[in-house]
Amino acid sequence: MELSTTTPAKINLSLRLTGKRSDGYNNIETVFMPLFGLVDTVRVKEVKGDGITVKCDVPGVPEDSENLCWKAATRFAENSGVTACWHVEIKKNIPVAAGLGGGSSDAAAVISLLNEMYDKPLNENTLHCLASGIGADVAFFLEPAPAIGKGRGDELETVECAMDLPLVLINPGVPVSAAWAYTNCYTAYNDEMPTADDVAHQLLEGGSTAAISGMLRNDLEPAIARKYLIVNVIKEFLAEKGCSASLVSGSGPTVFGLCSSVSQAQRIQADAEAYFGESFSFWSGLAPGNCNPHSA
Ligand code: ATP
Repeated sequence: MELSTTTPAKINLSLRLTGKRSDGYNNIETVFMPLFGLVDTVRVKEVKGDGITVKCDVPGVPEDSENLCWKAATRFAENSGVTACWHVEIKKNIPVAAGLGGGSSDAAAVISLLNEMYDKPLNENTLHCLASGIGADVAFFLEPAPAIGKGRGDELETVECAMDLPLVLINPGVPVSAAWAYTNCYTAYNDEMPTADDVAHQLLEGGSTAAISGMLRNDLEPAIARKYLIVNVIKEFLAEKGCSASLVSGSGPTVFGLCSSVSQAQRIQADAEAYFGESFSFWSGLAPGNCNPHSA
């Protein structure tokens, strides 16, 4: 048996640190937005004999027990009692270590595919616990849809989203470790700033992109922009080209710019490609863009 699926990237429209936890993680409050136009493809194949092997088409991504897909398959076997006998193939389109959740998304796809392959031995709650144990963002990708994430980001509340946001993404091709970003963040929590609930309310009401623009906030951004100065150059570029706002996504360094239309986003992408060159990567389109590929 063999199953495959596409699995999306995400951006964080808002990411606020709300306090340190006893387990060493930060409590956060975030608004996740899936990007169904920017996806990896994950294939899981039953093989003869025991064990898990992983193949990824991007050099540098681990293919051993460090790959989040390997961890996901191992946890699935432990929780379901099914003997692991799988080969996982990952075709990456989502830039790696970019704040776009690529590894977490791949891991969630493996969990969903294996649960489907063996006629759903694990219920939703178990899938959620299993996903959260692999990484804070993995649970979001089990049913990717606009959502508020609290706690480590894994206490999820789906947001009805009445609008599609035209976006352009610029990734400078410098990997940033999420652990580094959280450790070096120095932004103080500020009660007066718009909350994740405020952003979610705008999405629900189908407010204007201008209204959303005024609410974008990522507490990790100042530390990331101080170390990776290119982030400031990208933000200036996006402002000059007419984006109403821009923000580092997650732990960076990808920056997304909010546009007034997809055609404007495409024009800015073309200008960015000419200006920044081949070592960067780019994407433009709508968020969330279309339906959840897992349930299509
Ligand atoms: P997040 O936004 O969830 O913090 P990210 O987009 O910043 O994640 P990933 O692309 O998930 O980062 O990669 C983070 C690290 O995880 C990389 O350095 C990579 O070596 C490792 N990794 C493990 N499995 C994968 C995978 N399937 N795809 C990409 N990276 C992976």
